Amino acid sequence: MRSHEAGVLHASGYGAAPQWLPYPTDVNELLPQLWPSTARRDEEGRLSIGGVDMVSLAGEFGTAAYVIDEQDFRERARAFRDDFARPFDDLGGVDVYYAGKSFLCTAVAQWVAEEGLFLDVCSGGELAVAQRAGFPGERIGMHGNNKSLAEIEQALSYGVGRIVVDSLTEIDRVAETAERLGVTAPVMVRVTVGVEAHTHEFIATAHEDQKFGFSLAGGQAMEAIDRIVGRAEHLTLLGLHSHIGSQIFDTSGFEVAARRLIGLHADVVERHGLHMPEMDLGGGFGICYTSQNTPLSPTELGEQMSDLCRRELKAAGDGSEDTPTPRFSIEPGRAIVGTAGITLYEVGTIKQVQIDDTRHRAYVSVDGGMSDNARTALYEADYSCTLASRASQADPMISRVVGRHCESGDIVVMDEYLPSDLAPGDLVAVPGTGAYCRALSSQYNHTPRPPVIAVRDGVARPIVRRETIDDLLALDVV
Ligand SMILES: *Cc1c(COP(=O)(O)O)cnc(C)c1O
Repeated sequence: MRSHEAGVLHASGYGAAPQWLPYPTDVNELLPQLWPSTARRDEEGRLSIGGVDMVSLAGEFGTAAYVIDEQDFRERARAFRDDFARPFDDLGGVDVYYAGKSFLCTAVAQWVAEEGLFLDVCSGGELAVAQRAGFPGERIGMHGNNKSLAEIEQALSYGVGRIVVDSLTEIDRVAETAERLGVTAPVMVRVTVGVEAHTHEFIATAHEDQKFGFSLAGGQAMEAIDRIVGRAEHLTLLGLHSHIGSQIFDTSGFEVAARRLIGLHADVVERHGLHMPEMDLGGGFGICYTSQNTPLSPTELGEQMSDLCRRELKAAGDGSEDTPTPRFSIEPGRAIVGTAGITLYEVGTIKQVQIDDTRHRAYVSVDGGMSDNARTALYEADYSCTLASRASQADPMISRVVGRHCESGDIVVMDEYLPSDLAPGDLVAVPGTGAYCRALSSQYNHTPRPPVIAVRDGVARPIVRRETIDDLLALDVV
């Protein structure tokens, strides 16, 4: 595109508010699907979560702060453990692995253990957190497309229940490490099934031009299986694994993935006479970031996923005496922790920016930004937000909540209506930041990272403390 005077082309044809964003009838309303289950506005109009008033929380712990509703997290974990799992009963049950990469710290690993879920890790660091939490090794799965020898050794020494292998090199490395340690490594094979799912669409492709897994279409998956079977002394083949995407709102992509995995599973029985006891369909279940998202509940997901597994098993003629059904597992991350977490910011400057003759937008700067939430800059993610420190009767104004960093793409909430009497010192809360925000955070501009405060039954407790300038300086070698 030719260069042009700023403003003229940018603004043409676009309203200041995007079409999807409804003009609010009440700017103080909390849409229940966006917020942790205990979020309320108290009589004074202040936001409270877990019985803790966000104004006092900000006073005690400062802003920016991540706040996580422990009860909400546990409820969602249980919903997957019980409601999702129930329709799998006649298939022999299902194991739920919490995807730790979405957000993990010692306290959260303990919650996951207490709720009886399994845990996925994908680095030595995440595994170290699990170890510190005393998370049972046999309930841990380890992922990653480039695990180091040290990480493989750490996983095997701790006795993890499964290592999901991702390359031929890694199969050899795991086998050699197992041999050296005198153990047998339980492995699953990450299969690239040729399905990419995002939100409501999925694309089925023959070839997968991506770094993860062994291609099904190209025959690499069977080659990996042959290699594992050839090293049976040190490797136990548990089954096949796939993960098709993220922020998925329907199950059609999973159906194609299940069909292809079950097909390969049957081929392995035929070729090696080997029955693999497990099959993992991955995670990626969507959540609400704005009023426009319509996720399925764990109950609905469980019904649809078990139905499609049953259908595909039947079509493949599996489930008979000689080919028993594998035990399925799934790996939700975002769908457990995403909505349990919010970010609390303090408003700094507010700038009315003229877009054209008739329209303007309020740029609301907060004391955080892309360092604590990279998703908007990274994926053009949409978020919503609300004034948290009080209710307001003022008219809504179209706003963009931006961070304090030296990038114009440093945006937290692209489009939202906030009350027009918003002022410096007000608190703004952004829901849906429990997953992939702290996890993807940085210290850009030497910004110490916010704490994570767990709230429950009126008590606020830091589970990750705030970084300090001393923490930042401590790494500099002088
Ligand atoms: C990221 C990931 C998940 C979790 O994805 P969510 O969108 O958080 O549910 C599960 N399994 C694998 C292999 C992943 O890479």
